[in-house]
Amino acid sequence: MNIKRLVKKDVSVLRAYNAKEIPCRVKLDANESPYGFRTALKAAGKINTNRYPDPEAKALKGLIAKGLGIKQDNILQGNGSDELIYYLVAAFGGPVLYPVPTFSMYGIISQALGEKRIAIFLDKEFDLDTDRILSAIKKDRPKLIFLSSPNNPTGNCFSSDRILKIIEASKGIVIVDEAYQPFASEKGFLPLMKDYKNLVIMRTLSKIGLAALRLGFLIAEAEIIEEVNKVRLPFNVNSLSQAVALEALKNRKQFNSCVKVIVSERRRLFNEMEKISGVKPFPSEANFILFKVKDPDKVYNALLKKGILIRNIKDAVNGCLRVTVGTPEENTAFLKALKTVSG
Ligand SMILES: *Cc1c(COP(=O)(O)O)cnc(C)c1O
Repeated sequence: MNIKRLVKKDVSVLRAYNAKEIPCRVKLDANESPYGFRTALKAAGKINTNRYPDPEAKALKGLIAKGLGIKQDNILQGNGSDELIYYLVAAFGGPVLYPVPTFSMYGIISQALGEKRIAIFLDKEFDLDTDRILSAIKKDRPKLIFLSSPNNPTGNCFSSDRILKIIEASKGIVIVDEAYQPFASEKGFLPLMKDYKNLVIMRTLSKIGLAALRLGFLIAEAEIIEEVNKVRLPFNVNSLSQAVALEALKNRKQFNSCVKVIVSERRRLFNEMEKISGVKPFPSEANFILFKVKDPDKVYNALLKKGILIRNIKDAVNGCLRVTVGTPEENTAFLKALKTVSG
């Protein structure tokens, strides 16, 4: 039997997402929060392990909806927002348009599902190239447009008038992926939902301390939610995640204070990195900083030797590495190490 011949062509050329664990002392590679919510785990003790989870995750959706000031029929739960990207592409199909560099899952999922991809380079300021995007909208009529703002891995928010132009020109759905919104200085696109039926917003709990739970949310017009919900697997969010998230979210103050520390540490990291010769950090509205060095491989490996793991993204952004904002102690360790290896 020839497996290579059996598998779909689009899948055979893919490579599995490289999420291998590299041992380290200071982990600053995956845009996780350095602060967890361990006490919320006590909620797991009440779960009936023999029963399926609530397929609608009603309590959790209710709490999230209330926090965002939206109605429950405008929200859909995902096993991380990754899964919601999958569902969107499964439900609507392509062409799927997204800028590059950006979050890799938009392209990977579209390819896995055999949909046409349209990748359009960001401009020199890492902002959206509206001329190119608008002409691609005219020519290819993408069903889905994914815009991560703040964008991963560049860290900036796209200018909102450019996002608006795209929403207005598109006959398809525009998803603003706000995974990093809690760290941004601007408000995000939630308030504009009422004006644009084709605007969909994606949020996640992964970057604010609950990555282990895998919980993401789609916020959209009820009609869009209904269609996407048809391809959702019935029990996609498990009972443990539902219970622990509910418990953790009771304490919103704690989330907010963690975000505040991370934002202030981001400022310190940026200022200190700017002073290091051979290092050029880019301004960030997220919980990570993109930076340019002369020899990214050398710097990446030298940091790893000192036990500090960051992300080498030189293939996506020329000469660049990405560091997640950690605790003050972790950031200080990173800065100290970077000073000795960057020259
Ligand atoms: C990390 C990230 C996600 C992934 O979110 P999950 O909810 O953990 O699946 C989504 N979008 C962007 C832009 C990200 O960087």
